[in-house]
Amino acid sequence: MASLPVNPETQDDLLSRGYSRRQLARIVGVFGLGAAAAATMGRPAWASAGTPDAAPNAKVRIGANECWTGPLAPGQAAAAAIIASGNRYSPHDERGDFIKAVMQVEGVPYSHVAPWPGSSDPLSRSVVTFCSPTRGLVTADPTFELAGRTAQWLGAPLKQVPLKADYSHDVRAMLAADPNAGLYYICTPNNPTGTITPLADIEWLIANKPAGSMVLVDEAYTHFAGVPTASYLAAADKDVIVMRTFSKIFGMAGMRMGYIMARPDLIAKMMRYDGGMQSGALPLPSLACATASLTAADLIAGRRKEMQEARGLALEHLKKRGLDVHPTNANMFMIDWKSKPASQMQAAFRTQSIEIGRSWPIWPTVSRVTVGSMDEMKLFCEALDKVWAA
Ligand code: PLP
Repeated sequence: MASLPVNPETQDDLLSRGYSRRQLARIVGVFGLGAAAAATMGRPAWASAGTPDAAPNAKVRIGANECWTGPLAPGQAAAAAIIASGNRYSPHDERGDFIKAVMQVEGVPYSHVAPWPGSSDPLSRSVVTFCSPTRGLVTADPTFELAGRTAQWLGAPLKQVPLKADYSHDVRAMLAADPNAGLYYICTPNNPTGTITPLADIEWLIANKPAGSMVLVDEAYTHFAGVPTASYLAAADKDVIVMRTFSKIFGMAGMRMGYIMARPDLIAKMMRYDGGMQSGALPLPSLACATASLTAADLIAGRRKEMQEARGLALEHLKKRGLDVHPTNANMFMIDWKSKPASQMQAAFRTQSIEIGRSWPIWPTVSRVTVGSMDEMKLFCEALDKVWAA
């Protein structure tokens, strides 16, 4: 049996929280050491660069919630410039510079920030850390499934709670679904709906959840919404982990950068499995690119506006065709085809070399479409007229 690369105290802690020795081997899989885990879970999103959703040969790729274009210009310049100093592990203090940029933008202390290569690792890691066979996970339905898949893989109970009529998380129903959960996962804006859960609801959940549990707020798409974020809750030392990625508006999915904001004791707990190795040794071009991008407020707002215009064009077109599109605040929207399964529509779009997103089991006739560039959305609309008329 595989042994966990952690000190005996951490192993003892895991065993005392109800994990069996067999489940410890599965935790090895979560940290990327187990090919078996990857195969069983279908999509090992902690290695999510290059997902199965991606269709490299499609003319228009609006299926995987990637950005339509690459990193912001200052990020590209910073990444290119630092390559010449790549002989040094850390030519200056690039990790520190990155954390300082986060402090400046988010208003959190240095001690409350931990960078990661993307957010899939800390997402799965938080399930390992705060859930167990005796303390489950609660998520919305539909939502980004990685946390739920990790819980199932580890044998932690999973409760999936339908979104409210306005497509926000039903935090009261989530607490009622498992009043003793280890982790409550809130994705805002939510993937796949693009909808926001009000900060007041998140505050309510934090105030009413059981002792010892955590609230994980995944804000992967927040810059596309441009709304106030939950980082102040991390700065205030609440039982919360706020998670970000550079894979979305920053156009860095393949460069693997993200970070969490949380109390230092929560960060330390999440680092116990590997001493935070992944957080400490990030590739210099990714760090430099992220640091220069994060503070480029005008360029971020410009990209958001570009997305809103392309999304507006597509939504207007869909409305004219009489299709039912759910409201959205982010770079994705959900179309309910009603009379046709989403899988059939995805296949129909493929015949036009357009890769749209998939559906979620709770809504089999609803497809998620990522907002691409204006030109891509025009091609999407043209293809829609062909495949919907057919
Ligand atoms: N969280 C959400 C809501 C996502 O949609 C994704 C990816 O699509 C991730 C986290 C993980 O992304 P990454 O590992 O690229 O940061």
